[in-house]
Amino acid sequence: MPLRKTILVTGGAGFIGSHLCARLLNAGADVICADNFYTGSKDNVIDLLDNPHFELMRHDVTFPLYVEVDEIYNLACPASPVHYQYDPVQTTKTSVHGAINMLGLAKRTGAKILQASTSEVYGDPEIHPQTEDYRGRVNPIGPRGCYDEGKRCAETLFFDYHRQHALKIRVARIFNTYGPNMHPNDGRVVSNFIVQALKGEDLTIYGDGQQTRSFCYVDDLVDGLIRLMNAPDDITGPINLGNPGEFTIRELAEQVIRQTSAKSQMVPRPLPEDDPLQRCPDITLAKKALGWQPKIALKQGLEKTIAYFRDLM
Ligand code: NAD
Ligand code: UDP
Repeated sequence: MPLRKTILVTGGAGFIGSHLCARLLNAGADVICADNFYTGSKDNVIDLLDNPHFELMRHDVTFPLYVEVDEIYNLACPASPVHYQYDPVQTTKTSVHGAINMLGLAKRTGAKILQASTSEVYGDPEIHPQTEDYRGRVNPIGPRGCYDEGKRCAETLFFDYHRQHALKIRVARIFNTYGPNMHPNDGRVVSNFIVQALKGEDLTIYGDGQQTRSFCYVDDLVDGLIRLMNAPDDITGPINLGNPGEFTIRELAEQVIRQTSAKSQMVPRPLPEDDPLQRCPDITLAKKALGWQPKIALKQGLEKTIAYFRDLM
């Protein structure tokens, strides 16, 4: 085994992936970033391109990939409802065929493999906050099904490869994460509100804005992913990674308006079908198994994210 680990990050040119690549390089790894640039971009990793230990590959994970690696972080998949519903068939293929291809790669190389799963596996949950043993309430035939069921099937594949082929797996269930490198037209609530506020436009509140989400700053999340990958092999997950601070969408809008000093108002828009009413992670397991909990409060994280979008615009 060479001294430097070689780590593959699929979806590495996306929002979370770009932060993860930077952190892994800083920690002394050789990083291969594979991305088809569907929602990610070279700009997100532009500062890494001069690093001889970084390699950027245009690759779609629905096709097999032949590289020699020690670890795989499988993040490739559009994450914003607007983007994953644009081509729903491709979304399911990315999660399912992508998982099969990356698990096959892990099997051949003996690499450890981590799946970026999601709180969406819980659907519109009946129990609150969500614990890992909750099996969820997903509508398999609704507009979010391509993402939710794709991610659920990927989890199934991970555990079957683990049982059948003794693969070293890690499954992280990521809750709403935000921060720099989110795409300004991404359609997710934090980027939408900040961009709207900075343009002096009104903030679009879907439904009555009483639905809740819990927002984790990207640095905290990346720390959790790396801890999970480096945890002992019996810690397979699934394990919730998210910030348990819970806010209504209206509270988030008020906070963004305050922190940007915008004159914007809130305007109602229709609630998308199957939009979960409440979401908040129970992170007892992550605390115990990984010694992890988020450190960055919403106000502080929004400050950094607002600064990023101000620069960009
Ligand atoms: P993102 O859209 O910014 O990043 C996804 C990346 O995957 C992009 O760079 C995109 O181009 C790439 N990609 C998409 N399809 C691909 C394919 N077929 N082949 C190769 N690359 C492909 O989203 P993100 O927020 O950075 O999410 C990263 C991962 O984390 C996703 O798997 C997502 O489901 C998961 N996740 C994110 C959140 C969140 O709040 N950000 C929450 C739960 C789960
Ligand atoms: N939302 C909103 N206005 C927007 C974008 C999103 O009110 O401009 C709401 C959306 O209906 C959902 C929440 O914010 O209830 C989070 O949406 P997002 O798309 O960020 O992620 P989700 O958790 O739904 O996947």
